[in-house]
Amino acid sequence: MRKKIAAGNWKMNKTFGEAVELTKGIVEAKIPEDVTVILGVPAIYLNKINGMAKSNERVFVSAQNAHQELRGAYTGEISVEMLKSIDIPYVILGHSERREYNCETPELLKKKVRIALDNNLEVIFCCGESLDIRKANKQEEYVRNQIKGSLSELSDEDMSHVTIAYEPIWAIGTGETASPQQAQDMHKSIRAYLNELFGNEIAADTAILYGGSVKPANAKEIFGQDDVDGGLVGGASMIADSFIEIINSFS
Ligand code: PEP
Repeated sequence: MRKKIAAGNWKMNKTFGEAVELTKGIVEAKIPEDVTVILGVPAIYLNKINGMAKSNERVFVSAQNAHQELRGAYTGEISVEMLKSIDIPYVILGHSERREYNCETPELLKKKVRIALDNNLEVIFCCGESLDIRKANKQEEYVRNQIKGSLSELSDEDMSHVTIAYEPIWAIGTGETASPQQAQDMHKSIRAYLNELFGNEIAADTAILYGGSVKPANAKEIFGQDDVDGGLVGGASMIADSFIEIINSFS
């Protein structure tokens, strides 16, 4: 049985007080028993928010990134070992903003995924195409190559700790959403590719989230698609009421 997941990504937003307020609103909400909520929290607040999340057994915390080395002279970076040492369960890797602004390549992300899994973190691996690639109708090939470059050498056991987030870049923070059919088509293609790489069981069990301007008004229809197992949500996850509506959008 695949998990149903509503994941938020706060990116570089919220003061400490605002982060605490937002978390309060979410952990105090009644969350359906079959839904897993994950909060993608700025690194500086991880410890505090993780402590708060423990008051609701459906809410978990994720880092938004981690370094590919375990430790060393990498000023300003955060390691998987540090995350584990404060009991953080998840890490988001390969978000398109990090691919673009921090030059994260599939090869680099392969190392990050490896070290995260070796240190018992659950990985949310992001992939997705730009508008140019979508216009050229090359999105499926492009996303498969992103998966091939970073995940193809993982074992079945590794893959049981990976969630995929398909996030078309042209829909992130733009207000433009992939249509439910576009999301379903891509998710089906990703699942078919997981089947090719890892076989039927992993393909059937891996949760694939959609990301890109998910909001209360469109979440139900998107989450209702056969191969969509939830969402990775930016803007709408930063307002408690709207995120709670999204959390309640699974049928
Ligand atoms: C994201 O940050 O991954 C995202 C999908 O953002 P938004 O929901 O704001 O488009």
